[in-house]
Amino acid sequence: MILITGAAGYIGSHTALKFLEKNNDIVVFDNLENGHIETVETLKTLGDVYFIKGDLKNKSDIDKVFKQYKIDTVLHFAAYALVEESVKNPKKYYQNNVVGTLNLLNTMIENNVKKIVFSSTCATYGEPKYLPIDENHTQNPVNPYGQTKLTVEKILKDYDRAYNLKSIILRYFNVAGCDEKIRIGEWHNPETHLIPNILKSTVQDDYVFNIYGTDYDTPDGTCIRDYVNVNDLAEAHFLAYKYLEQNNVSDIFNLGTENGQSVKEIFEACQKVLNKKIPVKLRERRDGDPAKLYANSEKAKTILKWNPAHTIEDSIKTAYEWEKNFKA
Ligand code: UDP
Repeated sequence: MILITGAAGYIGSHTALKFLEKNNDIVVFDNLENGHIETVETLKTLGDVYFIKGDLKNKSDIDKVFKQYKIDTVLHFAAYALVEESVKNPKKYYQNNVVGTLNLLNTMIENNVKKIVFSSTCATYGEPKYLPIDENHTQNPVNPYGQTKLTVEKILKDYDRAYNLKSIILRYFNVAGCDEKIRIGEWHNPETHLIPNILKSTVQDDYVFNIYGTDYDTPDGTCIRDYVNVNDLAEAHFLAYKYLEQNNVSDIFNLGTENGQSVKEIFEACQKVLNKKIPVKLRERRDGDPAKLYANSEKAKTILKWNPAHTIEDSIKTAYEWEKNFKA
C-alpha cells in the first residue's frame, strides 16, 4: 500500500488522483489544516482510499497508520509552504516540516519501510548563480521554508547511508492548473499564488489583482518563473515511484518546464485565454522574490522518461474552470 501524506492538499491530491487512475490503493494521511475534507471525499469516489486524519507532529498518529496498514512506499507532501509566513514564524515551519518529517522517517525505519518520494522545492537553491538551474546548482536558501526542505534533503542523505532508506527528491518549480475534469483544484486559504490570484480577480468583484514589482532586472521588469502543470507533476511522481521500486536507488530531480515566463506574460496569457480585459494594480516588490527562476529538467526527462505535455494555456483554462465553478 502507498501512503500519501498531505493528499488533501493541492499537489498531493492531484498525485493521489494519478495513483488511483493507475489502480493503486492509497492511504491518505492529512491533518486537514490546509487540506480539505471535500478533496478527500472526491478522491474516495475514484478508488480505494483509506483516510486517516492525523498530524505528523504527533508521532503516535503516524505510528498508528503503519500498524494499521502494510505500507511499502511513502509519498510525502505534508508541509507548510508559504515563504512569507516562514520568515515571520520559522518555529512553525521547522516544527512541522522538519520535526514532523523526522517522525515520519523514524516510523518508516521502525516498520522497515525504506522507500520515500519527497516533495522538495526550487526554494532550496536560493538566488540563482546561473540559469536554467540544474540539480547540481549550489543550495543556499534565502528563507526558512527553503531551509526546512533542504534540512530534510540532508536528513534523507544521512538516513540512506545509515539505514538504507531510499529517497527520490523532487524539486518543484512553480505549479499551476488542475485536474482536467475539474474534480479537484488549487484551494489555498489565503491564496498567494500568481495564476489563481489573476483568475480570482475575474470572478470576485471585490478583488483586484496586484503585480508585485515591475523594476526587476528582467526584459519587462517583472519576475520570471517556470510554471509546470500539476498533472505533469503528478505524472512525475508516478514515474519516480516506479523508478524507486525498480532500481531501489536514491536520486534527485528538478521538475519544471525549462521555460521561464514573466508575471506580465502570464497575466497577458490569462487575458488571452479568457478573452477578457483584467484590471491590475502595479505594486512594490514582495519580500524574498528572486528575479528569475527556471529549471533545467533534462535529468527527469532522461532518467524518469518524464514528458511534460501540458501548456500554460492548459493550466490557465483548468484553473479558471475550477475558480469559477468551485471556489467563487
Ligand atoms: N505575484 C504577483 N501577484 C500575485 C501573486 C504573485 O505579482 O498576486 C508574483 C510574485 O511576486 C512572483 C510570481 O508572481 O514574482 C510567482 O509568485 P507565486 O506566489 O505564484 O510563486 P513563488 O514563485 O513565490 O513560489
